[in-house]
This record gives sequence, C-alpha cells and structure tokens, in this order.
Amino acid sequence: MRFDIMTLFPELVERVLEESIIGRAQKSGAIKIEAHNIRDYSEDKHRRVDDTPYGGGKGMLMMAPPISRCHSAILEKTGEISPEKRCTVYMSPQGKVLTESMAAELASYDQVVILCGHYEGVDRRIVDEIVDREISIGDYVLTGGELPACILVDCVARLVDGVLADKECFEKESFSNGLLEYPQYTRPFEFHGVTVPEVLISGHHENIEKWREEQALALTRQNRPDLLAGREEKGS
Ligand code: SAM
Repeated sequence: MRFDIMTLFPELVERVLEESIIGRAQKSGAIKIEAHNIRDYSEDKHRRVDDTPYGGGKGMLMMAPPISRCHSAILEKTGEISPEKRCTVYMSPQGKVLTESMAAELASYDQVVILCGHYEGVDRRIVDEIVDREISIGDYVLTGGELPACILVDCVARLVDGVLADKECFEKESFSNGLLEYPQYTRPFEFHGVTVPEVLISGHHENIEKWREEQALALTRQNRPDLLAGREEKGS
C-alpha cells in the first residue's frame, strides 16, 4: 500500500514517519510513503502557494492550482493504480472524526493520497474537485495538516499486512471490539508496593479472559461511556 502526502512541509512528515514501526515498514516494503512539496507546483517566480481570501478576513488560504497540479502529478506517477483502489483525503477540522473503523476502510485501498492544509486552510474548489473524504483527528484546530496526516498514516499503516508482527496486535486492541483494552502488566511482579493481579499469574486462561473482559468493560464504562451506548444500540 502507498501513501502520497501533499504538503508544504515534506521534511516534517518524512522525519516523523521514518522512525520506529512505520519506518521499518517502509524499509521492508510493506508500505511506501512519499511526501510531495506543493510549492514545487507553483508557477509563481517566488513559489507562492497562498493568497488572501475573497470576501476579506484574516490569514491566507492555499490556492487551488498548485494543489491541483501536485495531485495530477501523483496520479500520473502512480497510474498503474486503478481509481477505485485510490482514496484522496483532506485532513481538516471540518471532516468526520477519525475512527478505527474508518482506518480499516482506508487500509483496503492500494493508495491513500493526503492533502495537508496550512494557514487558514485551502480554497474550497480544490476540495470539491479532488477529495473523496475529509477527515479530522479531533475537535480542535492545529496549525497544519502535517501532524494529522502522520496520525492517519500511522493508524492505517498498522492495519496493513506485514507492518505489525502479528495481526493479534491490532485485533485485540482498544476499539477493535467496541471497548477500550483491559489493563496490562509486565515485570517486575511488584512495583512500588503494588503487585500484578493474581489471576494473571494463575495460568488459568479462561479466568484470565473473563477478568480481561470485565476490566475492559469497567474501563470503557468509566472513560468512554459513549462507546457502550453505541454497543447497546447495536444490541451487543
Ligand atoms: N480555517 C480552518 C477552520 O476554521 O476550520 C482551520 C484551518 S487550520 C488552522 C490549517 C490546516 O490544519 C487545515 O487546513 C487542516 O489541514 C489542518 N488541521 C487543523 N486542525 C485539524 C484537525 N483537527 N484535523 C485534521 N486537520 C486539521
């Protein structure tokens, strides 16, 4: 699977995504990530990519033409990927909030092209023309779409075959079954006077599973009752 990120700050996303699991996944070839500098597609002699908004107001808006040329260049370069297997996403606080199930849907594509806005955002016409999905990472406003893009890539890429060592790593994770994950412990057995719950060292797998389910439910009820409301509506 490949990710193409359209941004004014390619080094920023490259630096974040070259580390740890996502960095190793790129090296192993499980995923490919390419950052594209929108400024390279400006036809202005000063490589300008933004202008003031029509109707007035503070701040600058990214212009449509450089983004359009950047997007066309990506599609041309990756022409072997059929349009049905490609999804273009705009990272935006106005989008639908990212969820694990949205990430799973995106992981079924061969290519995700991501547009990162900056300043006051981008000219609406380019969103209407090239974007399939507008995705937010939460109800707050950041200075740019680069960190949201890295979050989206990380969250989708870990669901791609060959990125994590074992599918179980994400199959039993928070949100995978509509609950938060149960608490986990590792050595030492005692830390600052607190010991690991006895059941976990009992070797009784059924009891361990039961304990984990109860803990997951209790934690979800405490921290994210909204998730349980969703489950109850579905009758689970
Ligand atoms: N004027 C926009 C508004 O009020 O909705 C905010 C623009 S924001 C300062 C600049 C860029 O940061 C956006 O175009 C988007 O790409 C990115 N961004 C900011 N917050 C985000 C969020 N919560 N989720 C995803 N992208 C975000």
